[in-house]
Amino acid sequence: MKYGLIGEKLSHSLSPDIHRIFFELTGKKGDYGLFELSIEELQPFLLNASDKGFKGLNVTIPYKKKVISYINELSKEAMKIGAVNTIVPGNMLKGYNTDYYGIDYTLRKYHESFYWDRALVLGSGGAANAVITYLEDNKDNEFNEEGIDNADKKDNIDYKKNKDNVNKIYLASRDKIAAKNKFPHANTVSYDEIADYSPFDIIVNTTPVGMFPSVGASPLTKEQINGSGFLFDLIYNPAKTRLMELSDELGIPNVNGLYMLVAQAVKAQEIWNGEEYGQDLVDAVYLRFLGERA
Ligand code: NAP
Repeated sequence: MKYGLIGEKLSHSLSPDIHRIFFELTGKKGDYGLFELSIEELQPFLLNASDKGFKGLNVTIPYKKKVISYINELSKEAMKIGAVNTIVPGNMLKGYNTDYYGIDYTLRKYHESFYWDRALVLGSGGAANAVITYLEDNKDNEFNEEGIDNADKKDNIDYKKNKDNVNKIYLASRDKIAAKNKFPHANTVSYDEIADYSPFDIIVNTTPVGMFPSVGASPLTKEQINGSGFLFDLIYNPAKTRLMELSDELGIPNVNGLYMLVAQAVKAQEIWNGEEYGQDLVDAVYLRFLGERA
C-alpha cells in the first residue's frame, strides 16, 4: 500500500520513520514516501492520488489550509480548525485533522486532568488553531453547566465568586490585533501583558521559539510561567526545550510534541484502514521511535 506526506520542504520529516515503525509493529505492508510539491502540482496530485495507488496522504506546511478547496468531505474537527492534515484519496476526497487527536492523546496521557479553567496559548498560527479548537471543546463544563465547581475547587470561594475567572483562553501574540482577527473568541494578549493574567492551568507553546537550532531561546521567562499547572511544548527537536527546562526548575510538569506527532500519525492510519488502534499502539510506536534515536 502506498502512503505519503505532501508539503513544500520535507527533508527533515520524521513521518516516514514513524509510519515504518507502525507497519513493523502491526505487520501491515506499506510504503510511506515524501512528496515535495509546488502549488501548481498540488491539485493534480490530489485528484490522481487514488489512480496512482495511494491509500492515504498526510499534508503539512504550507498546504494544510490550501487543500481544503479540493476536498469533497471534511471531518467535523477539520471543519472547525480550518485545516486538513490527513486525506483519504478517491473520487470523493475526504479530509481530516488528526493533530486534534494528537493533542487529545498527549493531554490525556501526560496531564493529570484534561479539563482546564485558564489556558495560555503562545502563537497564532496553524497549530494554535488546532490547540484552541481542542481547548474550547474541553472546557470545564461541570462548572459551566451546573454552576458548581469540580470537587477540588468546591471550597475555593474566590473561584466561586469569580466565574469570569474560568474557561478563559488567553492567546499571546506578537501582534495582538492580527491575532484577534484570526481568533475572535480568544482573549488576545501581548507578551508584556502575560504577567497580568498568570498563573495558568495549562500553557501550550505553538511558536517555533526554542526549536533547533535556536535551542537556547524561550518564548516566556521563568517569572511568566511561575505558578502555572502544566506546560505542553509542541516542539519535538530538541526533546527538552529551554521553556521545558525552566518549567522543570519550577517543578511544573511538562511534555514536548513528539507524542503528539506519533499519535496524529497513528490516528491517520486508523482513518486510512478503518480500524481502531488506541493508546497502546501509540505508546508502542513512540517507545520504539525513541529507542531507535537513543
Ligand atoms: P506557524 O503557522 O508558522 O505559526 C507559528 C506562530 O508562532 C506564528 O503564527 C507566530 O504567531 C508565532 N511565531 C512565529 N515566529 C515567532 C517568533 N520568532 N517569536 C515569537 N512568536 C513567533 O507554525 P505552526 O504550523 O503553527 O507550527 C508551530 C510549531 O508547532 C512548530 O514548532 C511546529 O514544529 C510545531 N508543531 C508540532 C506538531 C506536533 O505534532 N508536535 C504539529 C504541528 C506543529 P504570532 O505572529 O501571533 O506571534
